[in-house]
Amino acid sequence: MNHKNIIENKYFGIKKLIPKDVQILAVSKNQKISSVEKLYKIGHRDFGENYIQEMVKKYKKLPKDIRWHMIGRIQSNKLKYIISFIHLIHSIQNIKQINIINKIAFKYKKVINCLLQIKICDEKNKSGITFQEASKILEDEDFKKMKNVKIIGIMGMSSFQELEKVHNEFSYLRKIYNKYQSKYGHNILSMGMSRDYNIAIKYGSTIIRLGTLIFGNRKKTI
Ligand SMILES: *Cc1c(COP(=O)(O)O)cnc(C)c1O
Repeated sequence: MNHKNIIENKYFGIKKLIPKDVQILAVSKNQKISSVEKLYKIGHRDFGENYIQEMVKKYKKLPKDIRWHMIGRIQSNKLKYIISFIHLIHSIQNIKQINIINKIAFKYKKVINCLLQIKICDEKNKSGITFQEASKILEDEDFKKMKNVKIIGIMGMSSFQELEKVHNEFSYLRKIYNKYQSKYGHNILSMGMSRDYNIAIKYGSTIIRLGTLIFGNRKKTI
């Protein structure tokens, strides 16, 4: 294998093995701009970042038809830097964040698509909200009036340590997704990362978030 084409080959390898209706989000956090460019050149357009600052830096340097996804913990005071171009925010955890997004998006005359991040494992460092908290947001009267923000699905992260738990966790997230799909018309279930995307696909993931599997180990770049 030509070492220059490792990223491209990995990408095509994964794409060949997964169903056509499952989207790949290439998670480029702590990866080089040139790595993003490699995937861009072969036609990939969806990239995910965890930090707003890093996303903005990359956005400025890269082609403008890239669809940027925010997948990390949200720093509310920095949301204003991405609302003009963000494609999808996966990691919404409360009504306050939604309110801020709605207000900024109004100024830009945009409607921002978001997902609610649900906590599906009991590891302390994993963020997300419960099914009850998510349902409360979706039924919130103030939220229902907001015109510049839309919730179109949910996201979740499985246990890092215990792979045998992952089945239950993804199955649980799928059940919530089914409920919201019939009640609110949700159409995005963001679940599965490099180590568990195959399991996530079995449970009906519509978008898998792959970082290290495509790009290799993360380096500090920015
Ligand atoms: C970093 C990250 C990923 C990608 O992780 P890999 O294990 O490198 O595939 C996916 N989703 C979220 C929320 C992340 O923070």
